[in-house]
Amino acid sequence: MEKQTVDFARDAFLTGRSQPLKFRVQQLKSIQRLITERQGEIALALKQDLNRSQYDTALSELIGLENEISLAVGKLSQWAAPRHVEKNIMTLTDQVYILPEPLGVVLIIGAWNYPWALTLQPLIGAIAAGNAAVVKPSELSEHSASLLKALLPQYLDKELYPVVTGGVPETQELLRQRFDHIFYTGNSTVGKVVMEAAAKHLTPVTLELGGKSPCYIDKDCDLIVACRRITWGKFFNVGQTCIAPDYILCEPSIQNKVVEGIRNTLQEFYGPDPKSSPDYGRIINLRHFSRVMGLLEGCSVALGGESDPSQCYIAPTVVMDVSPHTRLMQEEIFGPLLPIVTVSDVGDAIRFINGKEKPLALYVFSSDKKVIKRMIAETSSGGVVVNDVIMHYVLNSLPFGGVGQSGMGRYHGKHTFDQLSHHRACLIKSLGMECINMARYPPQDCSRARR
Ligand code: NAD
Repeated sequence: MEKQTVDFARDAFLTGRSQPLKFRVQQLKSIQRLITERQGEIALALKQDLNRSQYDTALSELIGLENEISLAVGKLSQWAAPRHVEKNIMTLTDQVYILPEPLGVVLIIGAWNYPWALTLQPLIGAIAAGNAAVVKPSELSEHSASLLKALLPQYLDKELYPVVTGGVPETQELLRQRFDHIFYTGNSTVGKVVMEAAAKHLTPVTLELGGKSPCYIDKDCDLIVACRRITWGKFFNVGQTCIAPDYILCEPSIQNKVVEGIRNTLQEFYGPDPKSSPDYGRIINLRHFSRVMGLLEGCSVALGGESDPSQCYIAPTVVMDVSPHTRLMQEEIFGPLLPIVTVSDVGDAIRFINGKEKPLALYVFSSDKKVIKRMIAETSSGGVVVNDVIMHYVLNSLPFGGVGQSGMGRYHGKHTFDQLSHHRACLIKSLGMECINMARYPPQDCSRARR
């Protein structure tokens, strides 16, 4: 079944119909129409999958997609045009350019935490770049997956952009097929499975993975503002965000103030009982609920800690003075638990960060320019944000992606178009001016080269 879908997509690609810019723009506008006409159904699916509010659905998934579409529609002719590059003395009279061309059939495997953004955003880039694409939404966000499967064929070319639903067996069957690029979002264990399968066909991959994104709070900083921004980024979608701040690093002298700042912000955001707040989400399923609660075992909680398995509810939770050796500090949390690890100074924080895998995001809160400069210069991460969290994701001029264990490849805006294009090197010479070429032909004769 999966083989047939991929074969149909390849046949459709080989007809060449995905390539004219007019067709690409028309398909992109159809996705825009899908979002406009079906936003009520999308919001309902996300409410069922993640208890996400309608407001947060627009904020976290739909607005970003609409921005990507309007950017791609507006810039496509520029992005797809030949990019003329510098010439050397041997090619002065020739045409030399880079031509972005489609790769072929792309496989997009999405994750469940933002099921629309994480499948449609790569799809927008795949379409813009002239590819066919097979879309595999995560089975865990099941309402969104079935809605995607029902809606996409109503708006897009069915053969070029099919949706395959199902779980691990279906994904594995897809991975046995030959693609021209695989774009995977999810955890790094499955990332390795994807890369191994891709290697069998020498298929290039983009891996959008996760990890533990640190958040350093300097003592020289407005703690009220810092805590409000961190609380928003951590507890939005109950911590199920790949670039959520995973843990806080700060000096012991400000730790209590940080906890107080978070406590006050939680009260401001969700009131006295987050469980009854319409703005506070739920864990995707019981398996993840148990995994997250398991990370709390043996920890003494400073804030929150309550849970209700019948609703997959876990309260916003802060844990102080966490030892770096606990499970909470070894695994990506991907839930509403915020550990605080104390460090003696900025140098100690840098050593701590560099002692772990390179994260997807690094956050620094400070008013001290020297601290900010040093943090950026002496660490590495997919992205870095100073005095805020998550907001680099919404800026489509910035490449989004990981480094090392947090992933490979980058996307958003033109970066997605480039990621899913082949950059073909083109040199167009004339058959004239043969005298210029004489120097490179045998027999070697220095005097002729000089003439
Ligand atoms: P998931 O369980 O939904 O898996 C993602 C996809 O992989 C699904 O489509 C699923 O069908 C497939 N899959 C799962 N197991 C498989 C297997 N054994 N073989 C083949 N395919 C398989 O999502 P997840 O991994 O729980 O997502 C959470 C992770 O994703 C976190 O680590 C998070 O940080 C990361 N993430 C990264 C980004 C990013 O942009 N970098 C965005 C969101 C999530």
